[in-house]
This record gives sequence, C-alpha cells and structure tokens, in this order.
Amino acid sequence: MKDKLEQIRERIQAATEACGRDPATVRLVAVSKTQPVSRIAEAIAAGATDLGENYIQEAKEKIESLAGHSVCWHFIGHLQSNKAKIAVSLFDWIHTVDSVKLAAEIDKHAAKLGKVQKILIQVNTGQERSKSGVAPEDMAGLVTEISRFAHVTVQGLMAIPPFYADPEAVRPHFKKLRMLRDAIEKQQIPNVVMEELSMGMSGDFDAAIAEGATMVRIGTAIFGARQ
Ligand SMILES: *Cc1c(COP(=O)(O)O)cnc(C)c1O
Repeated sequence: MKDKLEQIRERIQAATEACGRDPATVRLVAVSKTQPVSRIAEAIAAGATDLGENYIQEAKEKIESLAGHSVCWHFIGHLQSNKAKIAVSLFDWIHTVDSVKLAAEIDKHAAKLGKVQKILIQVNTGQERSKSGVAPEDMAGLVTEISRFAHVTVQGLMAIPPFYADPEAVRPHFKKLRMLRDAIEKQQIPNVVMEELSMGMSGDFDAAIAEGATMVRIGTAIFGARQ
C-alpha cells in the first residue's frame, strides 16, 4: 500500500511539473468503497489523508470505526435527498450535488449542526442519460440558486466523464469542466468559491491534472481491484 501511494504521489508530481503546477495544489482522494476498514487503516498509516466513499450506509460504519483518525472524508456517490442528513453529519466534502432540492436538504441539516457544508457541483459533461449531474448549460443557474443557502458553500465542480480506455479520449471532458469552472468563477457570485475541480480516476488522473484537476479520486490504483 505504501508503495502504491508513493507511486501515485510521484505520478502526481510528474504531471504537475509537466504543466508548471505546484504538486501541493492536487489533493489525492483515496477511494475506499468496498474496501474493509483494515485496508483503509493501512492506507491512513501509509499517509492517506483524504478518503472517498460512495455508499452512505457502508461509509457510516467505516467512518465511525475510524473516528480516531484525523482524515478528511469525501462523499463521491449519488446522494438521495433523504440521505442528506446523514451525509452532512459524516462528510467534510460532498462532491455530487446536482439539484436545488438536494442542496436545500443539505443546507437544512447543516444549519441544525451549526456547520457550513463544503460541496461541489456534479456536471454531466458527457450528457449521458444514465449519469447524474447537472447539464453543462444549466450549471450556472444551479450554482446561482444554491449560492443563497447560508450553510452550504460551493467550492467547485466535479465530473465523472464517459468511460474510454484511452485517457486522451477523456481529456476533452476534463477541459470542458475546467472551462465551465473558469467561466463561472468570472461571474463572482457571492458565497461561491470556484477553486476545486474534482476529476480524474486511476486510469486517467495524469490527463486530468494537465487540465487543472485539484482533486483526483483514485481507488483501484491504490487498493487494487474491488470485489
Ligand atoms: C469508484 C470511483 C472512483 C475511483 O475509481 P478507480 O478507477 O478505482 O480509481 C472515482 N470516482 C468515483 C465517483 C467513483 O465512484
């Protein structure tokens, strides 16, 4: 595990250097879905500081068992509004907000906990019917509506592009997300910080970094294949 994490850090360093970025601007989110608590503890011991989970019930058990470790938890799965309460209580970041309704639920529960929840807006860059995420053309309107919630802070955008075996084929999607981010950043919407770009997974994170990723979500390259 330590070797795998080290190799990924080296790849992040090489990818940032290749495009003149500071490696410290890329956060490595180790995606631990389906991995047992023992493997996650191993990753934390090997230096993982940020962990990503997709399923609320599974995450709850793991996060509670690992409560003694000071790590940052990222929710990267599809979130139903009726699970917003528990997501807010467990996660530092929620990457997958794609509707006002969901943001309103998050805001309501964050207010009760006296928390300002960091969120990203998930964009469906490939316009795939099977995928969650707001359509690119509706993103700015959604961000504007969400910006009025006091207990939610929009920090950037996230995408899960269509699958291609060749990372170069995914690159236009990464670029599109960056351009959407840059465009909305210019609008200077109050209460909206457009700093983060959550994009890139095990097979394509180098290309994502070249296009500006600030969070890469990496599972199999760290933990091996999922069961
Ligand atoms: C599972 C998952 C990942 C990690 O994928 P790998 O190919 O295993 O690195 C990243 N992002 C999301 C949203 C995921 O569901």
